Amino acid sequence: MIPLAVPNLCGKEREYLNQCIDSTFVSTVGEFVNRFETLITKESSALGSVCVNSGTSALHLSLIGVGVEKDDLVILPNLTFIASANSIAYVGADPWLMDIDEKSWTLCPRLLEAELASKTEFKNNRLIHKESGRRVSCIMPVYTLGCPADMDEISRIAKKYELPIIVDAAAAIGAKYKGKEIGELGTIAALSFNGNKTITSGGGGAVVSCNKDLLDKIRHLSTTARVGTEYFHDQVGFNYRMTNLEAAVGCAQIENLKYFIKRKREIKLFYDKSFSSLAGVGSFPEPEWATSACWFSGIIMKDYSDSMISSLINELNENGVMARKFWLPISLQPCFANTFKSSTSYSDEIWNKIIVLPCSTGITSDELDKVVSVTKKAILNINE
Ligand SMILES: *Cc1c(COP(=O)(O)O)cnc(C)c1O
Repeated sequence: MIPLAVPNLCGKEREYLNQCIDSTFVSTVGEFVNRFETLITKESSALGSVCVNSGTSALHLSLIGVGVEKDDLVILPNLTFIASANSIAYVGADPWLMDIDEKSWTLCPRLLEAELASKTEFKNNRLIHKESGRRVSCIMPVYTLGCPADMDEISRIAKKYELPIIVDAAAAIGAKYKGKEIGELGTIAALSFNGNKTITSGGGGAVVSCNKDLLDKIRHLSTTARVGTEYFHDQVGFNYRMTNLEAAVGCAQIENLKYFIKRKREIKLFYDKSFSSLAGVGSFPEPEWATSACWFSGIIMKDYSDSMISSLINELNENGVMARKFWLPISLQPCFANTFKSSTSYSDEIWNKIIVLPCSTGITSDELDKVVSVTKKAILNINE
């Protein structure tokens, strides 16, 4: 079976892990944690970064960091991984779901602006959602599949409405927006190093930002809000730190980041080219502003019915090619079914037409050829 996206441990992972064990520094203090933070800061062109134990934790701390409070609304694209919405629920706030844009599959700035204009007003210096009386306190764009959102537009709107931006770039390390790296955009951005991401630390995440006070606050919160060396904690903090073992793997991985991104992009372009002649088969978007990190690659089959797509996926899986549907929109998740939403029609329409195909950075060209030939054959079969 050719897997979807598995870690590529072709670097110094083993050597660095052995160094952790030899040194006994296996927990949340150690040189690899510091080194990984330095490397992430550099790769994302941020002022600094704080490593934590997951992308979800990075989002959670970012929300607290920018001041999102209980009962607030946080604007979120409908097509995202559940963790983005969960992190909003962790602080007692609710997502305000908005649709994605057709050309990027990321938060639609036109809808965002229209919705803020018609549904909110400033009252006592607070941006209020008129119908519910709730405060709107943040925008969380998502770099879908590694593709940047339209950050210039979103930033312009955020400024007008005095909203901070938390970028969920969990799956997008290496993505560029008009040449700008993740750490240069938004108020703060969250990264994930889960096992299926472009680089992994086993499990882990980070926040990157150009705001030093915010980074200091998040570092403090991530380490039980401990002050000094005694057991004094000045607020309710979290045990969210990354371990040295995880950072050791992360350091080895990030040394190969350029190569991994190059492979991810090659895989996307190969699929795009291979399937371009098939009617009704589209590629994943990359708008003019984006250099996508191409976290996942695959196809979109807009004109095909759900049952045809299910048979296609079954046939691929039966023939040694792992294929899957992608994220179920947040509006269709039981625990967020009653949250606030503004037009989710495009995401509701396309989500189950998206098929992700094998795209591990270690995939061979023979395997890529097999994915293409098996997929083409399966498409012919479902058309019969
Ligand atoms: C992976 C991912 C997350 C969560 O990261 P974890 O490290 O798994 O907690 C959040 N948002 C998006 C868009 C992701 O792809």
